[in-house]
Amino acid sequence: MASQALYRRWRPQTFAEVIGQEHVTRTLQNALADGRVSHAYLFAGPRGTGKTSVARILAKAVNCTSDGAEKPCNRCLICLSLTEGRSLDLIEIDAASNRGIDEIRDLREKVHFAPSEARYKLYIVDEAHMLTNEAFNALLKTLEEPPPHVIFVLATTEPHKIPATILSRCQRFDFHRITLQDLLSKLRRICQEEGIAIEPAALELIARSATGSFRDAESLLDQLVAFADEEITLAQVQALLGTVPSQAVEELVDHILDGDVAAGLRLINQAVDDGMDPRQLNRQLLEHLRGLLLIRTGGGDSLLNVTEEQLARMKAQARKLPTQRLVQTIKLFNEAGLNMKIGFQPQLPLELALVEATLMGAQEERARAAPPRPASPVQKRGALTPSERPRRTPPVRETPAIPEVESKASASLEQVRDRWPQVLAAIKPHSRNVEALLKSCEPIAVEGSTVTLGFYYTFHKEKIEEPQHAALVERVLSQVLGAPHRIKCTLSPRDQRRVKKEKRPKTKHEVVAEDPLIRAAVEKYGAHIADVQTPPSG
Ligand SMILES: [Zn+2]
Repeated sequence: MASQALYRRWRPQTFAEVIGQEHVTRTLQNALADGRVSHAYLFAGPRGTGKTSVARILAKAVNCTSDGAEKPCNRCLICLSLTEGRSLDLIEIDAASNRGIDEIRDLREKVHFAPSEARYKLYIVDEAHMLTNEAFNALLKTLEEPPPHVIFVLATTEPHKIPATILSRCQRFDFHRITLQDLLSKLRRICQEEGIAIEPAALELIARSATGSFRDAESLLDQLVAFADEEITLAQVQALLGTVPSQAVEELVDHILDGDVAAGLRLINQAVDDGMDPRQLNRQLLEHLRGLLLIRTGGGDSLLNVTEEQLARMKAQARKLPTQRLVQTIKLFNEAGLNMKIGFQPQLPLELALVEATLMGAQEERARAAPPRPASPVQKRGALTPSERPRRTPPVRETPAIPEVESKASASLEQVRDRWPQVLAAIKPHSRNVEALLKSCEPIAVEGSTVTLGFYYTFHKEKIEEPQHAALVERVLSQVLGAPHRIKCTLSPRDQRRVKKEKRPKTKHEVVAEDPLIRAAVEKYGAHIADVQTPPSG
């Protein structure tokens, strides 16, 4: 295989070969046919969409010496010398490099030299938005009185950064992102003609991950050709991209739908063990859920870049997920994504979101199945004493009765703590300030209907004690607990509590029980810790 990169080898050489930018090439061809050539063009659009390729074709078209109507002919001496990069009349300047700045500085002088062999000298300024003010000024002077034999093409991914004085002197063309179909068909053609063996699913993943850029797609294919022995497989593409198989993401959603927390957690752990980034898994999961939402709301299948079979499976999943629950699930994983950025353990927020999302379905089902129970005394959950219960594995798939706060009854400390995150979440829309202040305290006691909040700092305590803040907290707290409650604020610095707690060493059970995931299983599912085993060292 030739060493030249696929991207260069498969660069379009005629206007007709440019894919996905017909609105640009047609206009340019018409103008050239009428002999209307501008002295400055702005090519704006995402990377890898053909801006510099079209600029090079333009250079050939305006200089082609063929008599035929098709220009460029790609056969005359001028065309050939331009294609091979030998021509002195095509000058490409990378505005992002230091040399580029020097080149622009020299420009005012050099533009006045006549072209060496062609009719027009064509300057391509790539990444034009990166030019310094000084360089823009030099360019502007030239554009104000362009020599008749000079054409400028400014290519940029960020046209809004180009000064208006420059913009007003350019004819602007906006290049579109390449569609998945266009990317796929070009990649297929390349593979066919280059004799590259590749699984269709692998090709599709390359196209999809290139997000509308030919250059990205083709350089990805290049890398894979270099490291694959025979056929390029989907697994190889996934390994290179660090993406999670879409099958795994689908399965994860199935586990959520089936209410199978254990299987969901296993899948996450397996994926991470296999070297996948939990953040990437979360991103793909969100993308999948968003797809389900589009399907459910009739947002149009065309918006989804998926195959027919995948679409059919997604539709089946979407049927099982009520829109409201779907929205809640998306919110959970979206929040997990944010927490993953700040946490030291990126896997944890994902696991917690999975537990919550799965639980949500179980609760809904229970609510549908069971009519509201008559009021009964508040249930108290069993303490975590292993000796009192027969050993068994945590009944994750069981649907134990979740203790509910009965109306008009005061809650226990455990229940208040359990629902504290809900209280915070419900306060947030009213006041982010109060919500933030409450993060520096925790419920430490409940006497009757009074909940005592222990604050770590005096300042936060005093802020919450202000009447309007206290009223808000009490109102929301009462709503969440289903009965009127008042709050009492005390100072409870973290250090003191830690000293108290650490008087004796923690038992293995206490250590394990502090794990947020275990806590979630215990609190939400009524699971209990049967036994804690230390893994053999080494
Ligand atoms: Zn020619």
